[in-house]
Amino acid sequence: MELLQVKALSKVYPGKVNTQALTDIHFNIEQGEFVGIMGPSGSGKTTLLNVVSTIDEPSSGEVLVEGISPHRMNKKELARFRRRKLGFVFQDFNLLETLTVAENIVLPLTLDNRRLADIEASLKRVADKLGITDILKKRTYEISGGQRQRTAIARALITSPAIIMADEPTGALDSGSARNVMESLERVNREDQTTLMLVTHDPVSASYCSRIIFIKDGRLAAEIHRGESRQAF
Ligand code: ADP
Ligand code: ADP
Repeated sequence: MELLQVKALSKVYPGKVNTQALTDIHFNIEQGEFVGIMGPSGSGKTTLLNVVSTIDEPSSGEVLVEGISPHRMNKKELARFRRRKLGFVFQDFNLLETLTVAENIVLPLTLDNRRLADIEASLKRVADKLGITDILKKRTYEISGGQRQRTAIARALITSPAIIMADEPTGALDSGSARNVMESLERVNREDQTTLMLVTHDPVSASYCSRIIFIKDGRLAAEIHRGESRQAF
């Protein structure tokens, strides 16, 4: 089964003048894919990610994750669904400065009342994978940008989500750290078959994806698979 199905998705921001941010978007993502969303500034990338990740609601159309429609859930069900099924990574990391790296990473499990032994085992697993075992006791203001983003990825990964959604994860990093973060995401995708969907306008970051979906003026414009030439919709 498709992990993610996006069907006839449209989004209008109401206002004095309505903004049609997305029009009739449709695509599927299979388990284990690493999908990049690219397009010019203002083309609707963030809107698409927000609607697909349940942060925002569609105006029409449907999003299904493992065949289930999160937008039809009540608040409590949706909160649980997000916690269990989705991982989020942001451009500005969204880490809590007063906590250590380890405390930030385990936060989703702490909030879910998991047993301490499970939390410790999960922490070791994701810290090893992201190469941040040495910095677990540091505060987030003591570590580099690349290390902060790898900490945020570890936090997203620790619940073993069905899909990790990342909005410009390398947008605040220098090119060396950006490559490092993309290599970490690629490893997470390859080794755990974790499905990833990321928005980026950086071609170098996008080159790590197995498939790139281009949007323009809120519509699907083209799609390429790694190793294939571009095909129009
Ligand atoms: P991108 O991420 O590709 O830069 P966005 O999804 O941020 O594009 O924006 C798509 C369009 O929707 C733009 O015209 C933008 O001005 C508009 N838009 C985005 N967010 C809002 C909002 N909260 N209210 C009104 N219009 C918005
Ligand atoms: P910075 O922001 O300081 O450039 P980087 O993200 O580039 O941080 O990484 C800092 C160091 O950690 C680099 O020397 C890099 O080789 C190492 N590193 C990065 N990712 C991993 C990983 N997954 N496993 C082990 N070491 C890693």
